[in-house]
Amino acid sequence: MKKFQSIKGTKDLLPEDTILWREVEMAIHNFMQLYGYGEIRTPVFEQTELFARGIGEGTDIVSKEMYSWIDQGGTNLTLKPELTAPVVRSYIQHNLSGKSPINRLYYIDSLFRRERPQKGRLRQFHQFGIEAIGSEYPEQDAEVISMAYKIYEMFGVDELVVKINSIGSPEIRQPYLQALRESLESHSDKLCKTCQSRLGKNALRLFDCKSESCKGVLDKFAVTIDTLLTEEDKKHFQSVLKYLDAMKIPYIHDIKLVRGLDYYTRTTFEIASRKLGAQDALCGGGRYDKLVEEFGGKPTPAIGFAAGIERLFIALDIDDTNKPLPLTDVYFVALGDEAVKVAFEIAEKLRLEKGIAVTVETLQRSMKAQMREANRNNAQFAFIIGDNEIAANKIIVKTMKSGEQQEVPIDKIDELFSTEHDCNCSDC
Ligand code: AMP
Repeated sequence: MKKFQSIKGTKDLLPEDTILWREVEMAIHNFMQLYGYGEIRTPVFEQTELFARGIGEGTDIVSKEMYSWIDQGGTNLTLKPELTAPVVRSYIQHNLSGKSPINRLYYIDSLFRRERPQKGRLRQFHQFGIEAIGSEYPEQDAEVISMAYKIYEMFGVDELVVKINSIGSPEIRQPYLQALRESLESHSDKLCKTCQSRLGKNALRLFDCKSESCKGVLDKFAVTIDTLLTEEDKKHFQSVLKYLDAMKIPYIHDIKLVRGLDYYTRTTFEIASRKLGAQDALCGGGRYDKLVEEFGGKPTPAIGFAAGIERLFIALDIDDTNKPLPLTDVYFVALGDEAVKVAFEIAEKLRLEKGIAVTVETLQRSMKAQMREANRNNAQFAFIIGDNEIAANKIIVKTMKSGEQQEVPIDKIDELFSTEHDCNCSDC
């Protein structure tokens, strides 16, 4: 019989993993709230054209990595490979600019890219990120970059490196592409086949390439964009850096940092951790002042970042296996069907009235096996009940840590929890 496996590059998150994921997600929600960002959730699929136009035809994502299909109605759909385009689509669709001139949005979501799976590179992966839509001013850039930095600090990731650059306003894009092409033409034989064709079509895509040898050629020979920046671009960039200095965010001005997506303008940045090795990028972002307009909205400047959650775990060196599972406070060892009925009733009362996590035996196992299960569930107490206890209107309560046992009348059982108890919930 065929045994199904999860698709290559996807991962199941089991209960011992999801505990950690929930903690991280809660920390992200709390962090975002402190900065006044509101959560946005967009559908898992969109029209393919949204990504083709937003990210750009010819990018690796659009040309090779999207999970796309035509549905029964003939519509071309794609599982989202990134979040900026869907968020901007939603921003325009719901006229968020009419509600406020500045919209601060964040998300935590699953994304899909058909990349070659390896450590830190999956086909379904998770990102959190923000999009601040409405301000063209450098303080907005500083807020966004500082948030990306501070969230890693909050999580305790060390050896952080913030790289930042300006790729200028859209007017200098064409002259830069021309200069870039000229600087690389005589070295094109050292580039991979894909990059050779990119050189002619849209040389900015070269910066997408993951091949180390192409990266080497770019590092050595590609003309940098700083020489073409306008006075306004320079002023904007200098102000961003001054704000970062004032906020004590360390950064490296990397004049070679050009993110390859079509929609980036002016500020681009990346945060990496030296601890990550080959896939060292934790997060990337930048300004995209033209995208809202490109999608049919009013010209509106914006800036955001996206950060990989799997990479965060790697940077934190978290081994998410072998963790104790705080699954339950009470394991109800019930012996016989009458006992199960009483156990169900008491369990429900404790959950609703006391907020106590209770698990009731449903496998009709021996007392010994049920006690083992109580241990496995990391329970604080085992409540033992059988026909004799029902007749005496009592429950045997075993404190798992000390092994102490006592008999408690059924109508007094909730008093066990009326004072401070040593339960597993995070509030105690
Ligand atoms: P991007 O949307 O490509 O700018 O990526 C932003 C961040 O998402 C990266 O810095 C990574 O942390 C993470 N990321 C991107 N692609 C993947 C992937 N295939 N698997 C895991 N994480 C990814």
